[in-house]
Parts: sequence; C-alpha cells; structure tokens
Amino acid sequence: MRKTGIFYHYQQGERLRDFPRLLEGILDKPNVFLYDAIYPLKPRSDYDLEAAPSDLLSRVHTPRMLDQVARSPYYETALYSAGGTVQAAELIWRGEIDNAFVFTGVGDHHAGRDFFGGGCYLNGAALAIAHLRGSFGARRFAIVDTDAHHGDGTWDIFQDDPEVLYVCFCSGGNREHNNKLNVSIPGQTSDEEYLSRLEGEFGPRARAFCPQLIFWNWGYDNTRWEYGDMGLSPRCHEQMAERLQSVAEEVCQGRLLVVLCGGSGRDVAGYAIPGIIRRLANLG
Ligand SMILES: [Zn+2]
Ligand SMILES: [Zn+2]
Repeated sequence: MRKTGIFYHYQQGERLRDFPRLLEGILDKPNVFLYDAIYPLKPRSDYDLEAAPSDLLSRVHTPRMLDQVARSPYYETALYSAGGTVQAAELIWRGEIDNAFVFTGVGDHHAGRDFFGGGCYLNGAALAIAHLRGSFGARRFAIVDTDAHHGDGTWDIFQDDPEVLYVCFCSGGNREHNNKLNVSIPGQTSDEEYLSRLEGEFGPRARAFCPQLIFWNWGYDNTRWEYGDMGLSPRCHEQMAERLQSVAEEVCQGRLLVVLCGGSGRDVAGYAIPGIIRRLANLG
C-alpha cells in the first residue's frame, strides 16, 4: 500500500482555514502520516515538522537575499513551508513514505537565487534538491509547475543545471532551454485541453529524462474565478494528480511530492486538496 505524508503547519489566513478539519476521514487511514508544527491545538499527529536548516538555505540563496527574507514578517512561515518540502523529500528518498502533500503558508516558485517576490520567500523544491544531492547523492529531478504564473525563481535557479527538468504551464510564451520548458496555456482553456497538454508535454519528457523524484508545484489559482483564472474546474486538480501519479509510478517508483503554491479561495482549497491527497494515498 502506498504511504502518503502530509506536512502541515499552523498558519494565519483565509484559504486554509478549514484545515486540518477537512482531512478528517483521511488522517485516520493506516497509510497516511501527518507531520505538523506550531499548531496550537495539536490534534493527532504522527511526527513533528521541522523548519528548513540555515546551512541549507545558503546553498541555494545568496546572503543578501536571505538577509532580506529574515527581516520579513513571513520568515518563520517561509522556514516551515520550505522545511516541509525538504523533510518530505528526504522521507520519500529514504522510502519511509512514497509521496507527500506539503501545505505551505507562502509559495516558492518566484524565489530565485538572489530575488524573491509574489508571495514567495524561499524555494522549497530547490532546497530539497540541494539537500538530497548533498546528503544522499541523488542527481536528477523533475519539477512540473501547474500554478497559473511563471516560476521565474525556479527557472533562474536551475537554468544552468541540465539535471533538473522543469516544465512550467503558464500564460507566458513557449520556450525551451537546457531541460527547462515553458508551455504556453491560452488565457481560457478547458479541463480536457489542459490535461491533454499536461500529459503530452510532461509525460514523454519525464519518461525520457528518468528523474529520481518528481516535484509538483501545484497552484489552484488557475481555477475559474481565481486570480489566475484559466477556466479550469475545481475537479481538474484531482485529475491532474491522477495523471502525474501515474507518470511517477512509471518513471520513479511513484515518488511524487506536491507543494501547495498559489490560490486564494477557501472553497476550492477545501475541495481540491482532499481530492489530491486521496489520489496520492490511493483512497479511491
Ligand atoms: Zn500563481
Ligand atoms: Zn511558466
């Protein structure tokens, strides 16, 4: 049975207000493990969530940028958000879990080597990759990015690194360089079209590239009425999860790490997140 880790830390703000309550009926499954932190009421929890360690931060970001991030009011949130991704990657790598969903308070794909913005402070996927390379000798990774916006930070960090496949689905133009690919999505699309582009553009590249783990930068800001509205329905996210999970099964023993990125609506989060986690944990 597939083992799924959920990484969760208490945070203020509207979009995740219904969590972890909405994970009832999921958390009690024997193959689902909750890692949480700074949650004042501390419900049932299997393990603690750790903040990203500072020696790791400086392997991805410049001292100048880290200094600015440390002075922002979101520093602690950023440390726990990125920390969840780093910890999830390590546990997947060790085989303790097969896949993971990381709740974040702030995003990561607009955080580059020496810049940050757009609600992103530290690049969790890049930190996790640096950690797995440094401590475990892992090399090759894929990052698939379905947030509505372009992951300029992730592109910046890995632009000279051919061992990271980055495929970003956003409204920017088509572009390809050194295993980084931008897939242009029209302003308005349908679930069917989007899913077929996801499958057609990411699937074959991932199969040819053979990553050791797949990160999915998942934003739901591309859902209808959201601030990056591409016309997608709330149901589409679970279908994306199903397809990406099956690519991960094919190329890297199901190692898939989902990082929450953009999106603001409480309803869409409440519907889509449990749907994705159910797929990851194979709960039907
Ligand atoms: Zn976005
Ligand atoms: Zn993009």
